[in-house]
Amino acid sequence: MSEHGDASGEQARGGKLPLRGIAVALLVLLALLALDRWRASSGRLLDEEDVIRAARPLMGTIFSVEVFPGGRERAEAQRAAFAALDLAERLEERISEWIEGSETSALNRAAGGAPLALSAELLELITASLDWARRTNGAFDVTGGPLYELWERAREDGRVPGADEVRALLDLTGFSKVRVAGNSVRLERPGMKLGFGAIGKGFAADRMAAFLRSAGWRDFIVDAGGNLVLSGARGARPWNIAVRHPRQDGPFATCRATDCAVATSGDYERFFEVDGVRYSHVIDPRTGWPVRGLSGVTVFASSGTDADALSTALFVMGMDQGLAFAESQEGVEALFIGDDGAARLTSGLRLEDGGILLLSPLRAAPPEAGRPR
Ligand code: ADP
Ligand code: MG
Repeated sequence: MSEHGDASGEQARGGKLPLRGIAVALLVLLALLALDRWRASSGRLLDEEDVIRAARPLMGTIFSVEVFPGGRERAEAQRAAFAALDLAERLEERISEWIEGSETSALNRAAGGAPLALSAELLELITASLDWARRTNGAFDVTGGPLYELWERAREDGRVPGADEVRALLDLTGFSKVRVAGNSVRLERPGMKLGFGAIGKGFAADRMAAFLRSAGWRDFIVDAGGNLVLSGARGARPWNIAVRHPRQDGPFATCRATDCAVATSGDYERFFEVDGVRYSHVIDPRTGWPVRGLSGVTVFASSGTDADALSTALFVMGMDQGLAFAESQEGVEALFIGDDGAARLTSGLRLEDGGILLLSPLRAAPPEAGRPR
């Protein structure tokens, strides 16, 4: 949680289970209230008036937009923020696997049958998803839909599924079972399902940011349920965000940053416990089982799509492999917090006095002297 954005995670969902959506929305609102208290107690000057803010429950979480109007009318900035949210709402109606009338649901229903011609937008999301699946060797894989659903139900029922139940779904999982030809896509096996819970919010944040830029806005933050895209600055000072502490209230660290995307995957928001074992909502699609070892991964990247996909992928890879992979990716930095609370960072980040310093290539402004963080 932070001054201007929450870099913690919520899951992309929509349509189904409205009660859960409302519960999540309430939790986020409570968190925002708690944040305000935290902010007030930190003694920081609260100059909220200088930005406009708009928020809406979307994709099973809260999306928000903050715009620094600069020399332009505040009302105009407010309209732009709402229009960005409208755009995300239309995107959700198209890509959510939880909305029956969505294009993704149509594609899932057609699994095993004829190829389906898709919109350029969904095609772009699928292409990006398959690309990350290949690059991460399947640690990130949107074809794990049936598995993610199984574990979602398991969490609701507080019941660990049987090994054979899990194994059966592995046949329906695997990015090599998706055929893309021109603008048509075919899922090879009946029962296959794509699920964009780990990339859709970041993709939406990119779309919203592109929209705001095309309308001439330069200084804004889009927060798609913890998937942030930062642009420009808040007037004279950079945007200040915070990475939530996975095991305590309040922030783990704050960060002043600009022109980058930040996303977090954690085991602290959606998990369940049986016999003292914590089952997170991030699944290794190759084994079918929830991953363990980390409590949070925060990724800095140049796009929201990449940051969202990567935070999940690195969470699956774990500390050692994840660090090595993040180092190998151009323009990507990551902060890993182990389940023992110990933090490790890629070489472009430094942790200093509760602040994260972004070294090149994603540069952040140095901490402001004399201002409490
Ligand atoms: P959040 O949505 O809470 O911000 P993530 O971005 O890590 O967190 O996405 C987790 C969601 O994505 C899960 O709820 C599930 O629907 C789906 N998912 C879980 N594991 C994977 C994975 N390895 N690859 C792709 N999607 C996943
Ligand atoms: Mg993700």
